[in-house]
Amino acid sequence: MTGERQYVEFDPRQGYPAGPDLYYECGICGDVIPSMPDNAAACRCGNVLVDADAGRVSVRQGEKLRIFRSPTPPDRPSPSPSDPSGTPR
Ligand SMILES: [Zn+2]
Repeated sequence: MTGERQYVEFDPRQGYPAGPDLYYECGICGDVIPSMPDNAAACRCGNVLVDADAGRVSVRQGEKLRIFRSPTPPDRPSPSPSDPSGTPR
């Protein structure tokens, strides 16, 4: 039983919960992105955007967002091995 998803309740007006074991699921394109990405993550259609640097989550259609807790990371879209913009550190 890996990757079991426990959906959590949240109130978009109070902000979006985040944690190392919390993931955002876009109800439009179905992409799953971590709530605490290394720097930034967005779903394919752009409905859900997480900017970890700014500590911000942007969601265009909050009713299309689902948040779940998972003990193990779900299928991640292959992370880009080398950032073309060469993120400076
Ligand atoms: Zn999407």
